[in-house]
Amino acid sequence: MKNLITLIALALMPAAALAQDDAPPPPKWSLAIHGGAGTLNRDAMTPERRAAYEAALQQALDAGAKVLAEGGSAMDAIKAAIIPMEDSPLFNAGKGAVFTWDGTNELDSSIMDGRDRSAGAVAGVKTVKNPILLADTVRTQSEHVMLMGAGAEAFAVEKGFAVTPPEYFATPARREALERMKARQLSALDVDLKFGTVGAVALDMEGNLAAGTSTGGMTGKRWGRVGDAPVIGAGTYADNRSCAVSATGWGEYFLRVGVAHEICAKLRARQELLALLAAGVEPHPVVKQAEAQNFADEVMADVKQLGGDGGVILVTPEGDAIFSFNTSGMYRGRATSEGVNEVAIFGGEDKVSATPDH
Ligand code: ASP
Repeated sequence: MKNLITLIALALMPAAALAQDDAPPPPKWSLAIHGGAGTLNRDAMTPERRAAYEAALQQALDAGAKVLAEGGSAMDAIKAAIIPMEDSPLFNAGKGAVFTWDGTNELDSSIMDGRDRSAGAVAGVKTVKNPILLADTVRTQSEHVMLMGAGAEAFAVEKGFAVTPPEYFATPARREALERMKARQLSALDVDLKFGTVGAVALDMEGNLAAGTSTGGMTGKRWGRVGDAPVIGAGTYADNRSCAVSATGWGEYFLRVGVAHEICAKLRARQELLALLAAGVEPHPVVKQAEAQNFADEVMADVKQLGGDGGVILVTPEGDAIFSFNTSGMYRGRATSEGVNEVAIFGGEDKVSATPDH
């Protein structure tokens, strides 16, 4: 009889009251990074070269993951991950940037905070060691979103950035790529089959998202050409309501599709639909990892259909860290509070599921 009364009482108890006994799930964090996508030839990559890239990716991943695991912000984590890749000559960002047609290195970068959608970007800067930090300073210390060229450099000096000599950015491998391109009348895609742009996206334990991207652009760029990397909505986007995205690839196509915003818009529409269908019942269902992957794949298919290639990384508010690319490889890595920690280069090297679906 007593048992029966308990059962009836339990059945009548509102679901919320029952849930109160359950300990809240531990807050999640999640991080994904990329070091560029492109036609990467497995056979042409020596074990030493592969090990060097993997070590550089792991270093960037660890730097960002440490910030998140210690309760730091998504913003700080993406900067911590991007800076070592800008400083590494292996990637086409900061030191090791590709050369313009005129033999200079012109750097583009952008950053966005998903909490308030504040954003900063710089294009065509030549004397700033870590363009991601200048983009962030535009975000936090100016009324603007995007500064370019000499004006961006004057702003940097005003904000206390050291002037880095242009020679710092130059590497023999990138100079040789420009020379090959000029000598053989090749396009940037022929000489520079792996692009090498860097980016990071993160979710912190407070539930905030952030995204950042940094690049030297494409070999042999002329006439002040700017790609997608510094353009908010194309190469970078973050919105706590949907996701954080950083892109890499043939920038002209990413600009035309508005890749980063397009992916976030699809996730947000899905999330809003789920909330509507749940008719106010809290907590309402969330976008699943497989759905988010599909949205990213759909947008990358759109890029491909126009003739472009490349890839994206994204992190969702649920902590799913996702890659999508239509090239043979993308330098990439991801780490989450659920124990995922991996770096990969070629297609098909990821663990099947980074985080259990929900
Ligand atoms: N998206 C960059 C650009 O077009 C290049 C890259 O990702 O490697 O400038």
